Amino acid sequence: MSDDPRRDLVGLGRTALAEEMAGFGAEPFRARQLWHWIYHRGATDFAGMSNLAKGFRELLAQRYTLGRPTVTSALASTDGTRKWLLRFLDGQEVETVHIPEEDRGTLCVSSQVGCTLNCSFCHTGTQRLVRNLGAPEIVAQIMVARDALGEWPSPANGADGGRQLTNIVLMGMGEPLYNYDNVAAALKIVMDPEGLAVSRRKITLSTAGVVPMMARVGAELGVNLAVSLHAVNDELRDQLVPLNRKYPIGELLDACRAYPGSSNARRITFEYVMLKGVNDSPAEARELVRLLRGIPAKVNLIPFNPWPGAPHECSSAAAITAFSDTLFDAGYSAPVRTPRGRDILAACGQLKSESVRARRTNPAPVPPAVGRISAA
Ligand code: SAH
Repeated sequence: MSDDPRRDLVGLGRTALAEEMAGFGAEPFRARQLWHWIYHRGATDFAGMSNLAKGFRELLAQRYTLGRPTVTSALASTDGTRKWLLRFLDGQEVETVHIPEEDRGTLCVSSQVGCTLNCSFCHTGTQRLVRNLGAPEIVAQIMVARDALGEWPSPANGADGGRQLTNIVLMGMGEPLYNYDNVAAALKIVMDPEGLAVSRRKITLSTAGVVPMMARVGAELGVNLAVSLHAVNDELRDQLVPLNRKYPIGELLDACRAYPGSSNARRITFEYVMLKGVNDSPAEARELVRLLRGIPAKVNLIPFNPWPGAPHECSSAAAITAFSDTLFDAGYSAPVRTPRGRDILAACGQLKSESVRARRTNPAPVPPAVGRISAA
């Protein structure tokens, strides 16, 4: 725990920052100036805020910080993927991954320490859920990446030319829709055009299918939706994605049909992990085509990424190609996702920190930013 009594301003939304400055006795435009310094310029101290009076800067520094979580490890893959392990004030850790591609750079952001879903093929699921991340801790992942990539000031909205961080996917550790309030607060900061300025069209939220929350994502955030489907019948999906017992495939696909803002131009991505002999037969590919009828959809086939002790194997290249061809022949885009950063355990489903749930006899103090954790 930090014993610094000063409040960290990084991760506050516009209203919270305005309220904080009002309480501090500063005029309203000071909050806007600070917003610009924090989220557009990436400032980490008050001293360099040249348009603020020196005395005011000193007062701010006495009361506030512009913090970053500690980066406890930074790894680079041979393919250019980078992974940062971040430690927060209470000692809990999450991973954030940057995946550079020719025409874009994607940051894969975590929403929880660990996960409650226990999907059979996912390494994060073998870690007990420790806690939700607060909005500032979600925003901090983008701040740390921009620091490491040297990408301050933030680009103007939509101006991505040459940028290494253009897209954000909520596909790291955790189920974002079991931490909706904090994820939504964080994304509103991230999407603000005068700050981090990542457009909602460049943000994808991936869910295992928390059906009652899906409409809100579309209506309130308007980001792209990805759904981790992985099976075409409830019997199998109950095994692979136990959340299916609560929200079965039929209900999940109905929620997809109703997703606000989806269209042929903005399709829902269905993720499908390719597991040898489990979900990869030609009959299952045909059934997937039937299930997706009427939904503006594309499919992302993800070769299973192994991890120590995993109970699955990746499908053969031939099985993956045949599966993909069936979908393409039916008119669906169905690219095979190239595994990235496997050598540093940074690929899909490989993220796992050493954080463990605090023992009941020795409870860790609960930080104020923590939201309620819904039961899985
Ligand atoms: N809980 C959310 C966010 C996690 S996203 C969700 O389930 O969508 C991580 C994506 O990687 C999901 O599609 C997940 O199913 C997939 N995944 C998990 N483990 C994997 C593994 N070992 N190999 C390939 N993909 C995996």
